[in-house]
Amino acid sequence: MEQTFAIIKPDAVERNLIGKILEKIETEGFRVASIKRALLTVLIAEGFYHVHKERPFFKDLTKSMCAGPVVLLVLEKEGAIKAWRKLMGATNPAEADEGTIRKEFAVNLEKNSVHGSDAPETAAFEISYFFSQTEIIS
Ligand code: ATP
Ligand code: MG
Repeated sequence: MEQTFAIIKPDAVERNLIGKILEKIETEGFRVASIKRALLTVLIAEGFYHVHKERPFFKDLTKSMCAGPVVLLVLEKEGAIKAWRKLMGATNPAEADEGTIRKEFAVNLEKNSVHGSDAPETAAFEISYFFSQTEIIS
């Protein structure tokens, strides 16, 4: 079963959307193989988003990820990586399809409520960045 990594971002946790987002995740047939609440530090957020470090929005992005608690998730499903990206919707919620999490819950490009790995290599890196193997129950 393929695994992917997801974050419920600070903007969504702050608005008490954890339950609604998890409901969509489970309804779409994902197994929550691991879940924890965390408060990221800037150093941890910078390491996590290192691929974006040359982008003009890097500082705002890493700061916003530390603005409040997040929920970290390992999700499992056949084709989980693509399926989770589809359920999240487009990065900019103005472009997100009906029925996606970002269409329904995101505020704007910066407060877009969820993160998802974009490829098998990034999923492996991101899962191991936050979880040890003993914390993941398939
Ligand atoms: P994520 O990695 O959070 O799942 P994504 O893969 O859809 O989102 P990325 O291109 O990886 O999008 O960008 C990471 C995050 O940086 C986005 O979720 C968004 O919050 C923010 N971001 C992306 N592009 C911009 C931009 N042009 N201006 C401001 N913030 C941006
Ligand atoms: Mg991304």
